[in-house]
Amino acid sequence: MRFELPITPPSRVTGLSGAGPTRGGGRELPVYYPATGAQISTLVEDDADAVALAVANARAAFDTGPWPALGTEKRMAVLEACRKAILENIDELARLECAATGLVLRELKSRHMVRAAYNFRFFAEFISQSAGQTYTQTENYVTTVTRRPVGVAALIAPWNAPVALATMKIAAALAFGNTCVLKPSEQTPLALARVVELLQAELPEGVLNLVNGRGPVTGAALVAHEGVDLVSFTGGTETGRTIMSAAGRNLTPTTMELGGKSANIIFASADQDRALDGALQGIFSNNGQQCLAGSRILVERSVFDDFTEEFAARAARIKVGDPLDDATELGPLASAPHMERVLSFAQIAREDGGSVLTGGTRRDDLGRGYFIAPTAVLATSNADRCAQQEIFGPFATILPFDGVEDAVRIANDTNFGLVSYIWSDHLPTVMQTQTQLRSGVVWVNTPMMRELRAPFGGFKSSGVGREGGAACEAFYTEEVTTTTPIHPVSLRRFGAE
Ligand code: NAD
Repeated sequence: MRFELPITPPSRVTGLSGAGPTRGGGRELPVYYPATGAQISTLVEDDADAVALAVANARAAFDTGPWPALGTEKRMAVLEACRKAILENIDELARLECAATGLVLRELKSRHMVRAAYNFRFFAEFISQSAGQTYTQTENYVTTVTRRPVGVAALIAPWNAPVALATMKIAAALAFGNTCVLKPSEQTPLALARVVELLQAELPEGVLNLVNGRGPVTGAALVAHEGVDLVSFTGGTETGRTIMSAAGRNLTPTTMELGGKSANIIFASADQDRALDGALQGIFSNNGQQCLAGSRILVERSVFDDFTEEFAARAARIKVGDPLDDATELGPLASAPHMERVLSFAQIAREDGGSVLTGGTRRDDLGRGYFIAPTAVLATSNADRCAQQEIFGPFATILPFDGVEDAVRIANDTNFGLVSYIWSDHLPTVMQTQTQLRSGVVWVNTPMMRELRAPFGGFKSSGVGREGGAACEAFYTEEVTTTTPIHPVSLRRFGAE
């Protein structure tokens, strides 16, 4: 089986800082097409000196450039130009993204890139509505609270939805007047390099910079740099711990969007067909690689056997294959080590006493790409490793429960707390469950619905802080309290006599 490349990517990818490429200085890293396992490009890693230059460019653009002080109207116009630049290049961007991630091209064009463009409109509209506060608690005084951009934002992105997730950070940081240094995942640098090139053409020099390379090299140098004022991170929980500790040394504020092991709770009172569709979408979309996946499917015992049988039958029929084929429902996993890790959980589930209902094997018939069969396992209890650890692949762990209290107990019995899903047509059941769940987001009778004005983020090891309209405004701005008397005030005259 030989899958065609979505696009011929540039043979070498570098960072982009100030008026040109970064100086690199680090290793050369291979970029692979996950559908074939073939190397398709080479990434030039930025070492600590290259990172320092990128931060210096962002610093200069913040301290002396026009961007932070630009009026809202002008900044909105630039954000609108950024949106258009992405929209006009959707096909190329989607193909570059497909080449490094293996995500299905149809989804990249119709969802990820459209969303990436919309992120700029969303934040442009948000700043058009932003207002300060005024207080007159004490007569003769007016106190105002205004917001200012914080400075240089380090934006660190993962590989599972590189452009869609990174543009949320870029658009937010820019909209509130900051300058940025973006570090994409070293596995998936292609589309973001082109996005940055397109956006740089619309922005004053130095406002948006790109550095590339591995996390512990390029990422660590960026986070530890004293010229960085903010760190916005999306990625794994362990990486989050490392970054937060490093940022803490400089007292740099961070926001952490981390992993999940979200419960998808299916009550007998749910429309079972819709719950089944929702559960399948919740775990198998985006090639199964998403933080908000409903990866622990909890099913009420009275409908457990029927639901599980149908879920496994549908999972086995999912069309796995070429990311360029519109009919494909599940493409390859992002990398060979990741594929091996996901597959290892089938064995881990068996060792813990569970059973594999479907999948758990590589799809060798599809060639050397990182394809696996959609997988569903029955766990013996929520303590099983496949019910506790984030697997981050097309791998569903299914467990039974008895009633609301049991569902809530199991759902909350995890170190994570990003999202929960509830399926029921019985309002008291929904409300009794919703009010007890410990997760930052609850989706009722819907698989995924991201309202950008609302906060998104997790409890416990799923994150610190939130992303979303007002949450981003709070993170990407500093509040300044200014108090002014209306009439001159009488002052104590120290040392006058
Ligand atoms: P990762 O933590 O391995 O890497 C994420 C980014 O951090 C990459 O750019 C990486 O190079 C960088 N990095 C790694 N070590 C670093 C260090 N020491 N200093 C600075 N940067 C460093 O995560 P991943 O494997 O790319 O992504 C998958 C993870 O991301 C999953 O756990 C998933 O749940 C999570 N995720 C969370 C959300 C959310 O919104 N909560 C969204 C998407 C993905």
